[in-house]
Amino acid sequence: MSVLARNQMAACAPSAARPAAAAARPLAPRAPARGTSNAAAPAAKAPAPRRDARAAAAVSVAEPAAAAAVGPSRDTYFTLRHEIVRSHFPTALGVEDFVSRVERALSQFGFNGNNAIAMTNLCRDEVTTILKAEIESVFGSSFNTNGLGGVLTCGVTGMGAGLSHSPVCPEGRERYVFFASPHCAVDEHGELGAISRPNRPGKSCACGAMAASLAQLQSEGLDSNVRVPGVHDPLDPEMSILKQRLARRIQAENMEPANMNLADITSVAERVIADDLEFLISKAVDTSKADYAVVTGVQIHNWSTDLAGANFEFVAPTRAYAVVNGVRTDIDLESVPPLTPRQLNTIAGGVPGLEAGISSAGQSMHTLQSMSASYLTDVICSSELPQPRDYLRGKPNPLNMPGEAKA
Ligand SMILES: [Zn+2]
Repeated sequence: MSVLARNQMAACAPSAARPAAAAARPLAPRAPARGTSNAAAPAAKAPAPRRDARAAAAVSVAEPAAAAAVGPSRDTYFTLRHEIVRSHFPTALGVEDFVSRVERALSQFGFNGNNAIAMTNLCRDEVTTILKAEIESVFGSSFNTNGLGGVLTCGVTGMGAGLSHSPVCPEGRERYVFFASPHCAVDEHGELGAISRPNRPGKSCACGAMAASLAQLQSEGLDSNVRVPGVHDPLDPEMSILKQRLARRIQAENMEPANMNLADITSVAERVIADDLEFLISKAVDTSKADYAVVTGVQIHNWSTDLAGANFEFVAPTRAYAVVNGVRTDIDLESVPPLTPRQLNTIAGGVPGLEAGISSAGQSMHTLQSMSASYLTDVICSSELPQPRDYLRGKPNPLNMPGEAKA
């Protein structure tokens, strides 16, 4: 099999082929049964969610009792799933852990959900809502500049529109928190691109736009896709801009599409999007009247086949910094302590289907939160909203905040 064909299959083809890195690994064990959990889970105390019966039936088929009885502990299993993701994206943190570290790190620079607007730039894919919801649980509703594959096409006008919606603090300054991230699925067995979508049988792909870009750049070559910035197909503006931005960057970095897999091109996309974001910020943000923060990375969906087991969401951060009064300070999110499982469970507020645990992947302690099939289904494709987290609330007007407003 040619390298091109192998990469295309690894990217998103419906075959069962796995990338070499994943094929060399033992298959991930199924999640331990609830009885093997070594910490109390709030889900066990909560009322049964709407789809629990169906989810329980699926789990019973996928996890024979004998296998579950000799399976790893919950935290060992969480660590194994985390290691699978980190084999492709070495800095990956659980999405809840990631957002909590961002929140606490930025608070020391004066940013919080009351005084800052979040600017989110993700792929248009509905599965990216898991990350978006975590961000908005901290910073309130965000202004999104989403594009296919996360490509940034809103321009200075689009960026400026979002900034003009920022809260204005009593001292007259504004605060913006920019999040930008392409996304990539890595399923429970380590297969790149593979994802099971709620209420849709069979294997799907994420990111489809990124996988299509890789396949087309491999078959068409770089030269025919390297164009002057701004040139695009009017019938397919975002996809054509995504492809030409990727082609220019791959060529500049002396890479060869035939030797790249979906994780490689997603990482290239992350660098392109982060650079494009910083360029727009340089044109749209006035640091004499505003402070801002930038947080970029790759969003990763580590979901189980047919959602029958535990499902995890990660972000592999790449850049994190705050610019206050025009002075930039870099933030090392890996050095920010994780919340404990108890703290994550408390924040989750007893929402059914969420369970926190510990991962020791990378020889340091991380906290992960697994999501059940019913939770994912409710969040992504149901009109019946799950029980809202008790800390999820609208952004208050800072001028009405006692104490802070008059400070
Ligand atoms: Zn996508």
